[in-house]
Amino acid sequence: MHRLAVIGLGTMGAPMVKNLRQKGFDVAAMDLSEGARAAVDGAIAPAPEALSSAEAIITMLPEGRHVASVFERVILPGAPAGALLVDCSTIDVATAKTLAMAAEASGRSMLDAPVSGGPEAASTGALSLMVGGPDAAYARAAPLLDAIGAKRRHFGAAGSGQAAKACHNMIVGVTAMGVMEGFALADRLGLDLHEFYALCAGAAAQSWTLENRCPVPGVANTPASNGYAPGFAAALMAKDLRLAQAAAEASGQETPFGAKAAHDFTAFAEGDAGAKDFSAYYTTLKAAKD
Ligand code: NAD
Repeated sequence: MHRLAVIGLGTMGAPMVKNLRQKGFDVAAMDLSEGARAAVDGAIAPAPEALSSAEAIITMLPEGRHVASVFERVILPGAPAGALLVDCSTIDVATAKTLAMAAEASGRSMLDAPVSGGPEAASTGALSLMVGGPDAAYARAAPLLDAIGAKRRHFGAAGSGQAAKACHNMIVGVTAMGVMEGFALADRLGLDLHEFYALCAGAAAQSWTLENRCPVPGVANTPASNGYAPGFAAALMAKDLRLAQAAAEASGQETPFGAKAAHDFTAFAEGDAGAKDFSAYYTTLKAAKD
């Protein structure tokens, strides 16, 4: 598998193309936006005819509706029979399943393969992938997935990669709320927050979120100590939590903490705050009572 197309050259897609080209893949790069195309050598507007020799087509687009539109207008009319379709976008489980069925009906296989990790990991091939789709397609995609990411897990049928990503990020979002409330209360109670951080980092409150997103400026090497520059933008956290809620509602599972985190991060991420790291939500918690 050598000839690829990547559709979507934004924050994640552009460094993915750079990484894949460095590893020797022949990549046709496509995006609707002229600005995004300008940042990637040889990039073109998406067109079915530009896919005629692609052995695998990767999509890295914002939401399910964008992926569905690209499938309908570009990929299904243009991809060669037997081409492998790999959607690395983070989208809703229902759309991932619908697109996989449409791919299958057209004689092609699709994997949903959302990623964890940011643009830096995308540019070095160090992402983590959560994959859903047929066993045979997963085996065929192995060299490509290993070029994109350092870790991968196959969860089963179509949509299960997106399901894993939604559940994982719901845990991160709910944990983040707990960490931020704990530090806000500790501050209100007059605790030394450096001492409190050291306590939590070595005790049962320890978590990835605590160590990598401690929300108090100057306490740890986290986005809070760098003006809340992302990291992981609040708007993306809010989006992922809403996707988890869509899956919860569709499946009938109660997730009250996930629902509250989705609501509060969504309200916070409206406007300029959406571009800040999600741990900036701490500033509104503090402001609420100061
Ligand atoms: P982005 O908004 O920076 O880039 C998306 C690109 O898609 C844009 O360049 C846009 O012009 C293009 N696009 C939109 N509609 C299109 C269409 N119909 N045809 C062709 N191009 C189209 O988004 P991103 O940050 O690169 O994220 C992409 C996906 O990866 C999202 O689902 C996001 O949730 C997920 N993700 C992002 C990060 C991150 O740190 N940014 C991390 C993990 C996962």
